[in-house]
Amino acid sequence: MSYSNTLSLNCPHCDTKCQFIVIEQGHKRCKNDKKHHIPYICTNCQGLIATKWTADNCSPDNFRGNPTGYSQLLDIYYPIVGDWKPRVNLQLIKEEDVKTDFHEAINCYNNGFYNASMLMARRAIQQEMLNNKAKGGNLYQQIESTGISRKLKSLLHKVKNFGNNGAHPDFCLFDEDGNQIIDKHEFAKLSLEFLDRYFADEYEIDSLVESAPKSQKELKEVQNK
Ligand SMILES: [Zn+2]
Repeated sequence: MSYSNTLSLNCPHCDTKCQFIVIEQGHKRCKNDKKHHIPYICTNCQGLIATKWTADNCSPDNFRGNPTGYSQLLDIYYPIVGDWKPRVNLQLIKEEDVKTDFHEAINCYNNGFYNASMLMARRAIQQEMLNNKAKGGNLYQQIESTGISRKLKSLLHKVKNFGNNGAHPDFCLFDEDGNQIIDKHEFAKLSLEFLDRYFADEYEIDSLVESAPKSQKELKEVQNK
């Protein structure tokens, strides 16, 4: 498909063949992949998509001014869905495998894949527990076997439940009155927020304490380590 300020595409938001209108101000040539990144908006549902185009070397103005003159070709388009960001500084999570799982859970959520997000959040805590030398044949026992506080354990059991809901069609969740709740979007968001809170408590407090000014006694302890 060659460049135009309107495109006819299957909308990933409303699942309909729709007209999209370019948002010209957003058009930039990415220095990393050398492609032109251009946002469009769906005229049916107003959902945003990002498009990537290959073209011969040219500026965005040249690109739009001569729509076929630089061999413009649409490579890929995808929905811009969510922008959930963790509160915790991800650099503080030292174990690469845990960080990767958490990151994937966030990406799944931001792209609207809520069951997948909850599964990855569950995977992240299981990885975290195994790294902490957890014991037991299932995740419940593994969480219980670690030395983390009772409050954090409760938080992780909730993440585990959301993960079970994401994995098993017959694992349901209920409100206090016993009414079943079906809100994958909310479940996935809570699952990420709980995990974020766990990482903040487990890693951020250590980092705050480590970087705080020390007394003479504390200084000696650090030096003697
Ligand atoms: Zn749409």
